[in-house]
Amino acid sequence: MNLKSRTLPELQALFKELGEPAFRAKQVYQWLHRGVRTYDEMTNISQPLRRLLSERYPIEAPQVVRKQQSERDGTIKYLWRLADGNCVETVLMRYHYGNTVCISTEVGCPMGCAFCASTLGGLVRRLEPHEMLDQVLFTQIDSGLPVSHIVLMGIGEPLDNFDNVMRFLELVNSQDGMNISMRHISLSTCGLVPKIDELAKRKLQISLAISLHGPNDEIRDRIMPVNKAYPIEELLAACRRYYAATSRRIHFEYAMIDGVNDRECDAKELLRRLKGLPAHINLIPLNHVEESPLKPSTRQAVARFQKILEDGGLTATVRRTLGGDIDASCGQLRRKYTKEQN
Ligand code: SAH
Repeated sequence: MNLKSRTLPELQALFKELGEPAFRAKQVYQWLHRGVRTYDEMTNISQPLRRLLSERYPIEAPQVVRKQQSERDGTIKYLWRLADGNCVETVLMRYHYGNTVCISTEVGCPMGCAFCASTLGGLVRRLEPHEMLDQVLFTQIDSGLPVSHIVLMGIGEPLDNFDNVMRFLELVNSQDGMNISMRHISLSTCGLVPKIDELAKRKLQISLAISLHGPNDEIRDRIMPVNKAYPIEELLAACRRYYAATSRRIHFEYAMIDGVNDRECDAKELLRRLKGLPAHINLIPLNHVEESPLKPSTRQAVARFQKILEDGGLTATVRRTLGGDIDASCGQLRRKYTKEQN
């Protein structure tokens, strides 16, 4: 396993085998989590140890392939090249409460949602823990902007890469690392029910977001293949169990697609479905993806939908779209780049 994917206790165990004291492991851990690119930057480590480590455990760091900055809102989008040549995207968004990084968890995505650019080429591979950490770390270093919040809403399905994502959370949250509070981290899933239950058992303080995008099986089946394996009632039952285990209110994402899920009857059905579940709904006007016939809802349809939900007692917000001028949504930049290369 890559040295940067190991937790501090694991690194200490490794250093013990190498005959090195535990405090040495902590020094190396702290350097790695500050984003050094070579062992020579570790000035408090002896030359012979630096040499040994660099031979056995080369430090990986992603390279910037593309960087686009929005003129409108300062959103920055990175396309990184990983050690094996694959590319993933990271987006830095500037909110009033802090700079938020949206990271990818997989190269491509196996889930097949009809409206999403990330899944068009299927899954290439899952990311290692340090590859997720590096997105946060090197976005902060390259932009010079301190990162306080993370959302796992980039390319990939985080719960399809469960163990590596859990390890990433531990790394990024660690006091000797970036020390980002679990309360400042959101994980979004399209609805892998058994994994939601597994996540609930961990009782983390992260926010859980569910990509719902429809009030019933008929609509979800059309746009989200995952619904065939885990229909909406099973998904919402898992959400109720999750809330019972963690007391964390659940966020639902709802991409508004013209004529597909944005009718008055859809809003009313959604209200009925979510009754009694402490929830917050985020309405997101669909980002148009070239390869897809689906279109965003009109502004009027979004406003009407929101009003029905709010009148029914649900908190519903319309997400401000950031970075609209820079292909900032899910998988669009990687897609464009891959097409240019072929
Ligand atoms: N696989 C996870 C994480 C990806 S999160 C999940 O499905 O939740 C990215 C969010 O953006 C998800 O809610 C996804 O459904 C949404 N999304 C994907 N493509 C979109 C598009 N074209 N317009 C608006 N939202 C989109």
